[in-house]
Amino acid sequence: MNMQYEIDYIPVGTGEKGGDAIAIRYGDFSSPTTQNVIVIDGGTKDSGKKLVEHIKTYYGTTYVDVVIASHLHNDHISGLTEVLENLTVGKLVVHAPWDHTPAIKRMTKTSSTIGNLQTRLEKSVSGLSELIDLAESKKITIQSPFQGEHIIQGQLAVLGPAKDYYQELLANFGITPEVKEQHKIGEIFSTIGKSVVNWIAETLHIETLSDDHPDTDSENNSSLVLLLALDTGNGIIKRFLFTGDAGKGALTKVVEYCDSQNYSLEGIDFFDVPHHGSKRNLGPTILNRIKPKVAFISCPPEGDPKHPSRKVVNALIRRGCAVHKNHQGNTINHNSGNVPARVGWNSITPTQFHDQVEE
Ligand SMILES: [Zn+2]
Ligand SMILES: [Zn+2]
Repeated sequence: MNMQYEIDYIPVGTGEKGGDAIAIRYGDFSSPTTQNVIVIDGGTKDSGKKLVEHIKTYYGTTYVDVVIASHLHNDHISGLTEVLENLTVGKLVVHAPWDHTPAIKRMTKTSSTIGNLQTRLEKSVSGLSELIDLAESKKITIQSPFQGEHIIQGQLAVLGPAKDYYQELLANFGITPEVKEQHKIGEIFSTIGKSVVNWIAETLHIETLSDDHPDTDSENNSSLVLLLALDTGNGIIKRFLFTGDAGKGALTKVVEYCDSQNYSLEGIDFFDVPHHGSKRNLGPTILNRIKPKVAFISCPPEGDPKHPSRKVVNALIRRGCAVHKNHQGNTINHNSGNVPARVGWNSITPTQFHDQVEE
């Protein structure tokens, strides 16, 4: 088979607010029946609409094999309702916290009944409830896979989270009763840190990205981490890693899982940089285990220097990676080369190394 592939990052958000909306197709593009279409997150309603148009225009189809919601944050899932409403979807991959109410009750030692807890969780994540209700009303198959399971057999596998780790995270979700106050304090601290940027110098030889930055929140760490592996012939397998907003905690578990399977992620062909390039999600230790060839970052137009963090961009470049970001509101595309040309599209140059980074 003539293996072709394309990955598109649709821009999400305005100002400092971003999100993820990713479209993928692979297979033999000569007919819509010999290609697979995957959507990972849909961003806002607006980017969800763009995603739908993009698939119709450039993938020549109204059928999406798999729609994946990486985690429950609205900047990732709001636009997915547009996809479910306007395209035909084979399967929705999503985790619903309320499927794990007994575990949450056990871990948080809450006095709420299972029923009460379930209702409160569903209400507090209304975007996710809306998406799942829509899928159910359209009789779309729902899959909630954990580490080691396949979404598309032999091609798209889940590297994280494992079920026990997911449940552990759930007990610390901001939406989970009894931990709400604690979470609010964390949010206040992160807003204070926003306004002032102190610049420091960085060179190719000295790394400023550190494993010691505090990790991202539990909701982000609950993101599905996915490995797409495509056989392009002559024994060459191209490997693509998608991370949602997974942080250091989650990615460390992914690397440990791969070690337990004697599987190395080092030198992967494509890396979806987690959490819009935040420095809270990646450290040198994880990057040394991945060393991707190409990295894409979904980030807001005015996210610099937080989304993406210049330290993260530099750390990737230092490891020989070509880094691309969609901060100018354009869709960016990565492909196998043997794909149809798109009229009016230009080639992009990788992001340059930053001599000044945020402290
Ligand atoms: Zn996000
Ligand atoms: Zn998130």
